[in-house]
This record gives sequence, structure tokens and C-alpha cells, in this order.
Amino acid sequence: MTSKRASLRETRSWRFDLGVCVLGLLLLVWSLPVAWDGGWRVALAALVGAPLVVLVARFPMVLDNEDGGIEIGFDSIVLVYLMCTFDPLEALAVWGLGVLGTQSISGKRAASLLFNLGVGILAGGAAVGTFHVLDGGSTGTPRELAAVVAAATAYFFVDYVVSAISVAIDSHTPVRRHLVQAGTWVAVACFVPFDLLGYLAVVVLRSNPWWTLVLLVVPLATLLINTRAIVHARENSRRLSVLFEAAVRVQALHETGHVVDALLVDARRLIRLRDVDVRSSPPLTHEIGAQIRRGKDALWVVAPARDRARSTVGADQHALDALAVICSEAFARLQLTDEMVHYARHDPLTDLPNRGILLDRAAQALHRARRRGVRVALLFIDLDTFKPVNDRYGHAAGDAVLVDVARRLMENVRDEDTVARLGGDEFAVLLEDVAVGEVVEISDRILGSLAAGTDVAGHRVNLAASIGIAYGDGSESADALLRHADLAMYEAKGRGKAQYVAYEPEIGQARMRRLELVDELRAAIANRDLRVVYQPVVSAATGRIAGAEALVRWRLGENDVRTDMFVRLAEETEQVGALGELVLEIVAQDAAALEAVAGGPISLSVNVSARQLQDPGFVTAVERAVRSMGGVALVLEITERQEITDGSALEAMHTIAQMGVRFAMDDFGVGFSSISYLRDLPVDVVKTDAALSQHIDDDERARAVLRAVSVMAEALGLDVIVEGIEREGQLAAVREQVGAPYVQGFLLHRPMPIADLLSAVHANRFGDQPPAEQLTPVAL
Ligand code: C2E
Ligand code: MG
Ligand code: MG
Repeated sequence: MTSKRASLRETRSWRFDLGVCVLGLLLLVWSLPVAWDGGWRVALAALVGAPLVVLVARFPMVLDNEDGGIEIGFDSIVLVYLMCTFDPLEALAVWGLGVLGTQSISGKRAASLLFNLGVGILAGGAAVGTFHVLDGGSTGTPRELAAVVAAATAYFFVDYVVSAISVAIDSHTPVRRHLVQAGTWVAVACFVPFDLLGYLAVVVLRSNPWWTLVLLVVPLATLLINTRAIVHARENSRRLSVLFEAAVRVQALHETGHVVDALLVDARRLIRLRDVDVRSSPPLTHEIGAQIRRGKDALWVVAPARDRARSTVGADQHALDALAVICSEAFARLQLTDEMVHYARHDPLTDLPNRGILLDRAAQALHRARRRGVRVALLFIDLDTFKPVNDRYGHAAGDAVLVDVARRLMENVRDEDTVARLGGDEFAVLLEDVAVGEVVEISDRILGSLAAGTDVAGHRVNLAASIGIAYGDGSESADALLRHADLAMYEAKGRGKAQYVAYEPEIGQARMRRLELVDELRAAIANRDLRVVYQPVVSAATGRIAGAEALVRWRLGENDVRTDMFVRLAEETEQVGALGELVLEIVAQDAAALEAVAGGPISLSVNVSARQLQDPGFVTAVERAVRSMGGVALVLEITERQEITDGSALEAMHTIAQMGVRFAMDDFGVGFSSISYLRDLPVDVVKTDAALSQHIDDDERARAVLRAVSVMAEALGLDVIVEGIEREGQLAAVREQVGAPYVQGFLLHRPMPIADLLSAVHANRFGDQPPAEQLTPVAL
């Protein structure tokens, strides 16, 4: 018997199918009373024949095409036997019962089932009718054989044609296409001769005892088992190509939704079942399914568990498992791609968008701003106090601060605004369609929330930021907007930090000037275009010059650039190392002449930035200087405003101290003012900041502070130099009430070129008539 395969679409042919079914059933109903009259003979045939039909029908040949497929069963072998042995209607009744049994346990959908039932009985009717018309009652003749062949052919073609019509209606395709199929003639060629096995059974039984029929079991079983093996092998190879195609196609998909769609289509094609589903719950009883991993959650591809001609439940399960692996791989690939894209566009620490996304969004916002005539604001936020936190508490604590800052920024902006991390301690906020008032309000809120401070490794740390604001109306590029905000941020830093400044063109010009200055300074250092002047350090008690401090000078055009200004510029632009080496070289050269005139111990101090101490070449530069300075002692002054927390800086200080070089803590009393520094660092001298001596001539409290510092330093075994002595009163106060051993200041000597220093030292040591005016005020 042949049967129409369940189509993948909803049944359009249901009317036709129903008609076929009704006709078949009518035929069966017509034949039943006649069979009833046949008595025990027919009853026995029904008892043996109907189950045999059911059994043989389980091993059909399957012919597939794109729109559906046809199953060719060999159960008509039994029909051939029946029609040669019984009356036409008796044979038809037994056959019909067999078909009914086959369909009732097929597990197919109702539509297919009813159609198959109808077509099976109708084809059986055609075969029985053909046989009885052509046979003419002759038994054991070639005519009977010819009638059997014609009946088998009629059976095949009725089943085949009716099935083809139904599939054509169902798939909305021409009938011709389903009639003329590759393999049809092969099927006829197999089917008709195999049906003759039924006739063989008739011939055997006519001349032999009934038990000889057992001999036919062997060819029948061979036929059925081989057919099943062929069908399964063909199906497996088809499934492999479906899986292969699915694996190739899924590579080209870039969205998870598309992968799910493809999965559903491929799963239906793979196991040729319409009721496949993709869902989040596992299979129930009477279902099979395979799990697909999609990120953290899982999906299931689920199908009915049904043994069919072409496949078993186990084979379907394997096929779904393989498809699930393909899809899981595709999801993993998409997830990886998503993560890579995310990492490429987000800061891994705070998960904030990075500069790339910020610029993209700024460009879009500017575009919209131009169309709608509104304003965009970009805030460039740089933390003021991050570096010391990072240095003191370590990078992990620094990271925690950055994450905390990111959170606070997010809390203080509107949902639609973009907060980005540009790198290091720099953040940005893009505000679209805002009024100036709102921007000011948001900036205030940000500064306020940072000022609340944060806990770092158990310590309360103050946070502050400088914010540069740039406004855009769409006439500028995103890059320019960011640059303007950056310049405004620098301006905020310059104006004392912890504030916001809105960009104005003048700020840009000042920045340009600064950039030019950086270039000019670089050239000046490279061309050794810097000078060094010396300011003597004098013994407060005796007036004897104990040494001199080297101070660098840079003349640009007509004027000197302020030293603290260009030193800071050098520090900010990584040039302070080169600058320091140049100063050390000049000082080392001048030392020889100084030693000659001094006639006794004398020192030269050189100012050093804490950053220089971290430079690996610095120790070598100091070593070289010490070698060429002969008897002149080298003192390195470290400004206290710079923290020395870096381990390598401390190590460098110890190495240098072992060369006999002494360290002075400069500008003591302002800046970081940590007294523990004096204990922990290899320091020999304290230079009190000019601010501490400014009022000592008229303020007892000022004198008391300076005295306390001096006493403390001396208790630690350190020398004290009081800086900033400009008036007689200050000098007297140091001598009489503070008790510090050394002083330095304009009253005694202004910074002077080396030649003047030499004459000043000579005069001071040997009582020469001082040639220069610098010595006039000295009354020590
Ligand atoms: P400093 O090391 O504290 O140097 C003393 C500063 O006070 C000098 O300013 C000096 O001219 C000034 N000064 C001296 N006596 C008096 C006084 O009685 N009254 C007042 N008001 N000021 C006085 P200068 O030369 O402008 O240097 C400023 C700062 O620049 C220095 O402060 C030092 O920190 C830094 N500096 C100077 N030369 C170098 C250098 O070669 N390398 C580095 N890294 N820094 C340097
Ligand atoms: Mg100094
Ligand atoms: Mg100083």
C-alpha cells in the first residue's frame, strides 16, 4: 500500500482527502455483509490476513521529493493472495480491515490517517476489480498471472495518482510534477514483481500442504528488512546534508533571532515533521528534544516522539542533538562577537562607553541639534586627586574609586545622557538638548557628589574634579567639541581645580600658547639654552656662606620666564628629567671654580622634582656630578609638595645618600607637610618655606611656629635653613628667638650668576672688599 506523506504545510487538500476517505469507507461497508456470509473461512482469513497486512505495512519503501513523499508498502502482497483465494468482496473486506488496523496504529495526524485509509481501500478495490475482470475464472494459467500483474499495477497507479493529486493540492503545485518523479518507474518495477510473492503463495498452497507457506517467510522477511535498511540509509544521508547545509548557513547569521528561525526551519527539514517547536521548556512525555545553550539561558528544540517508516525515535533524537550542537555553537559565536564588540566599545573597568562611542553619539547629537535648533553640551571631567590615591593605596583601591566615580556620574545625569570613560581618571558626559541652566545644575551636582568623599581601604578620601564644558549647536565636529571641553577642563585646573569652566575661544588661544611654550622649552633644553643662578645660604650666627642653591633660569625673548611656572610645565610634559640633568651638569662644571675660591667646606644644592627620582638614569647623572664636583658637597632639594610614595624613588634616594649626597626637604611647612617624612626619608636638611618666616618679625605666633619646626628638626638631627629672609627684623628674629642655624633670602643675597657667587664667597670667606652690591646688606 502506498501512503501520502504528511505535508509540511497546513492541509489545503482536506476536502479531497475527506472525499477519498468516504469513498474508501463506503467500499468497505459494502463488502462487509458479503464477507460476513463467508463464514469461518473468511473469519480465519481476517484473523491472519489483517494483522499480516498491518505487520508488512510497517516496512514500506519511501520515495521523497521536495514537497512531500510517498511511502510504498508491500502489504499488497497479502491483497494479491486474498483476491486469488477469496471472492472479490470477501477479499476486499479482509484487506480493508487490515488497512484500518495499519492506520489506527500509525500515529499519524488525523488528516493523513483518514486519507491513507481511504486511498488504501480504493486502491485495493481497483486491484480486486481488475483481477476479476481479467482473470475470467481460470486458475493456474498465464492469464491468471497476467491478471495478477495488471491488478498489482492498477493498485499501484490508483494509490500513486490519488496521492499525487492530494500532494499537488496541498502544495499548490501541478499534479504532473508529482506524477512524473524520478524513481517512480523503479518503484513500479520493484512493487509489481514483489506483489507476485502473494501469487506465489497461492500457487504453493494449491499444490502443497498449508505449512509449506512457511518457506515464503524467508524472501518476505529479506525484502522487508532490506527495504527498511535502504530507506534508513537514504534518510541518514539526506539528514547529513541538511545538517551540513544548516552548519554552513548558520555561519552567515548575525542575529540570535535569525538563528532561532533557521533552527526551526532546519529542524523541520531534518526530521521531516511539521510539529517541531523551539521553546524554553524541556520535552514532555511523547516528545523528544535537544537543549541549545544561548548565553546563560537554554532553549529546547522539541518534536513528537514517533517511530516512522523513514526513521525511529532514536534517530530523530540524534538528528536533533546534532542540530542543537550546531545552534549552540552559533549562539556562542554570536555571544563572543557581541562581547568583543562590547569590549571594543566599552571600558572594561566601569563598563562605561569609551571615547569611540562618545564621539559617535556626540556626532549624532550634533546632527540632531542642527536640525532642531537645540544645544548639546559635553562635560570633560578630570579627577584632581586621583594620582596620589592610586600611588598611596595601590591600583586596586584606585580602580574602586574610579568605579565609584562612574556610579556617581551616572546618578547625577539624566537617563538619556551618555557618561563615558575616556581613560585614566578622565570621564565625559554628553548632554543632549539642554539649557545652560541645566548644565550648570548637573555640573554642580557632580562636584557636590564627588566632594562627599569616598572610603578607600578604610580611609576617607576626598574627591574633587575639574570640569570643562563645551557647548555645540551642530556647526562643529564631535572631535572639536571634545577638544574644547578638554581645553576648558585644563583652564578649570589652572584656576584652582574642583570647579567647572565653560569653553571660550580665549581659553583655546591660551592653550595654544602653552603648547607653543612646551615646544620652546623642549628646544631650550635640547640647545642647553638655560642658565643657572646661585643664591647663597648663610650661617645665621656668623654670616659665613655655607653653600648656595642653584636656581634655573630661562630667558625667552626679552624676559625671564617664571622659574616655578616652566619647571611645572616641564614636570607636566615629561621634560623635567632632561632639565634636571642639564642643571646638574652646569652645577658640576661651576663647582670646580667654587671649590677653588671657598678655601674650605662648601655645598651646592640642586632642586629636584620627585618625578626625577623615578627616572632610572637619574642615579647615574648624580653619580657623574658628584665625581666632577670634587670637594664641593652636593645637596638635593626635594620639594615637599610632591609626595614620595613610589618604592623606586625611595630606593634611588638611599642609593644617592650612600654616595655622600645629602637631601634637603624644601618648602617645608606647606604642601603635604607630613612630619613622618622627616623620619622615613633619608633627609639631612629642612628648608622652611618662605611663608613660615614672612611674619616672624611682628607676630609672636609666627615666631613660635617657626621655632617649633626648627626645634623639632634639630631634635631629629637635621640642619634647618629658614628661607625668605627679606627684612632685618626677620633675620634678628631667626637669630634671637627661632635659633635656626642657616638663613637664605633677598636681604642677604639675591640669586646671582656663578661669577658673582665666586666673588661673594671669596669676600665672605677672606674679608675682601665686596665688589658687588649683593653683599651690602649682609650684616651677619
Ligand atoms: P625653591 O627651591 O623654594 O627656591 C627658592 C625660591 O625662592 C627661588 O625662586 C628664589 O628666587 C626665591 N627666593 C629666594 N629668596 C627669597 C626671598 O627673600 N623672598 C622671596 N619672595 N623669594 C625668595 P625661583 O628661582 O623662582 O624658583 C622657584 C622654584 O622653582 C624653586 O623654589 C624650586 O622649587 C623650583 N626650581 C628652581 N630651579 C629648579 C631646578 O633646577 N629644578 C627643579 N626641579 N626645580 C627648580
Ligand atoms: Mg629649593
Ligand atoms: Mg624653597
